[in-house]
Amino acid sequence: MTQDELFKVLVAHCKEYGFIFPSSEIYDGLAAVYDYGQMGVQLKNNIKNYWWEAMTRLNENIVGIDSAIFMHPRIWEASGHVSAFNDPLIDNKDSKKRYRADVLIEDYLGKIEEKIEKEVAKGRKKFGDSFDEAQFRATNPNVLREKAKWDEVHNRYVAAEKANDFAEYRQIIIDCNIVCPISGTCNWTDVRQFNLMFSTSMGSTADGANLIYLRPETAQGIFVNYLNVQKTGRMKIPFGIAQIGKAFRNEIVARQFIFRMREFEQMEMQFFIKPGTELEWFKKWKETRMKWHVNLGMGAENYRFHDHEKLAHYANAATDIEFNFPFGFKELEGIHSRTNFDLSNHQKFSGKKIEYFDPEENTSYTPYVIETSIGVDRMVLAVLSHSYTVEPLENGEERVVMRIPAPLAPIKVAVMPLVKKDGLPELAQKVVDELKYDFSYQYDEKDSIGKRYRRQDAIGTPFCVTVDHDSLVDGCVTVRERDTMKQERVKIEDLRSMIEKKVSLTNLLRNL
Ligand code: ATP
Repeated sequence: MTQDELFKVLVAHCKEYGFIFPSSEIYDGLAAVYDYGQMGVQLKNNIKNYWWEAMTRLNENIVGIDSAIFMHPRIWEASGHVSAFNDPLIDNKDSKKRYRADVLIEDYLGKIEEKIEKEVAKGRKKFGDSFDEAQFRATNPNVLREKAKWDEVHNRYVAAEKANDFAEYRQIIIDCNIVCPISGTCNWTDVRQFNLMFSTSMGSTADGANLIYLRPETAQGIFVNYLNVQKTGRMKIPFGIAQIGKAFRNEIVARQFIFRMREFEQMEMQFFIKPGTELEWFKKWKETRMKWHVNLGMGAENYRFHDHEKLAHYANAATDIEFNFPFGFKELEGIHSRTNFDLSNHQKFSGKKIEYFDPEENTSYTPYVIETSIGVDRMVLAVLSHSYTVEPLENGEERVVMRIPAPLAPIKVAVMPLVKKDGLPELAQKVVDELKYDFSYQYDEKDSIGKRYRRQDAIGTPFCVTVDHDSLVDGCVTVRERDTMKQERVKIEDLRSMIEKKVSLTNLLRNL
């Protein structure tokens, strides 16, 4: 299966098993908006808990808030979103389809990178143990040709990005013969700027309605509450404020399922620090956040940093944590050193003094900020796409198993009586009563045990517990583990601690 096909199968699987549905589906859906189903919402909540507890419980100097989605419209002027939250868009005149010019160029560069990696893989296969990768990359003519092409386009792209030169974006697209995937032509319009904020009005017209925006990020809710939290929480710098909440962006090209949505959720943390210490804290947060990801056990090789070459004018360092999605390495989280840009602009626009009095230094200053910002939905997609596995079974059949990290799995345990009689359902119900206070569970008594296992594999349940006739006599049940399919007999009273070891969020947090 190609990665593309695999992705389509994953999207269908998510719908079939209640993870994610297209929004407003009975009305043919709403572009780039999705609903979470009965499994999806639990996975999403578990991800949010893991983040929230890691931030606010493991750091005594980080507290959480929950600010409103509607905010004073001046906030978005102060933050620069009204004037500068734009994407460069370009239309294909034949298909009438709209694209982001920067994404077209980045995808083109990504394809060249893929070609280079394919050449290297071929070399590795051909030369076996004697393969010297560095030398191969430095001498192989195919690799060198592709690398030269990549360098040339990349240099032009970075220069155009720095200069905000949109005519040059278009020229690069034309020179590289980047075609519209629908029409196959290179018949492009000029590149135009498009603001991504949704707006609505508040109050009736008679009252003098105000134009307000749906927040495009949660961060500003933190900045405008900086003084409230610092004062009421008696916070001392360095300290952080964390928040999870919805954000809205009128994305031009909203494809790739829940990777790019128009309504999505963010988990953001702003860490307020003394000016001059930002690069040290930036490094610390890069390490901390990478550790949080790798701790889930989805393979350290599936993450990488991508340092920004073009920094926003107010930033002095920025990096993305990229994840190896089915469509390649793409941004999952951003970590930004934002100086005092936001706080000092809010000070300017609101006229309120936003400063910190440092008792040790006996001076006041506007704090600098390190931000970590991750999309909940992208994290859900990372987990789902990494977990989806098709495995051959000994009997020649296949099973689809979602190898979701156990503490994130929507259902932790399934309880099944072998048959629907002889007192087994009653005993199974007792097992449920033993487990339900600690774990999300499903009770299933329909179909053969094999079919029931398949259903639980498909939603990623780490443990299936079967109650059989022996259980009535020896008080033991059969526990079947999702990944190894190994089965063992366990005393009913030992079940809780056995399951807990593997699925507990506490243990996951302890490993950080
Ligand atoms: P991109 O370059 O992919 O548009 P961005 O750099 O604009 O992303 P940020 O503004 O840094 O993203 O937002 C922080 C995080 O929010 C991103 O790392 C991503 O996980 C998430 N995010 C941003 N836009 C979307 C979206 N449209 N749908 C889902 N998640 C998003």
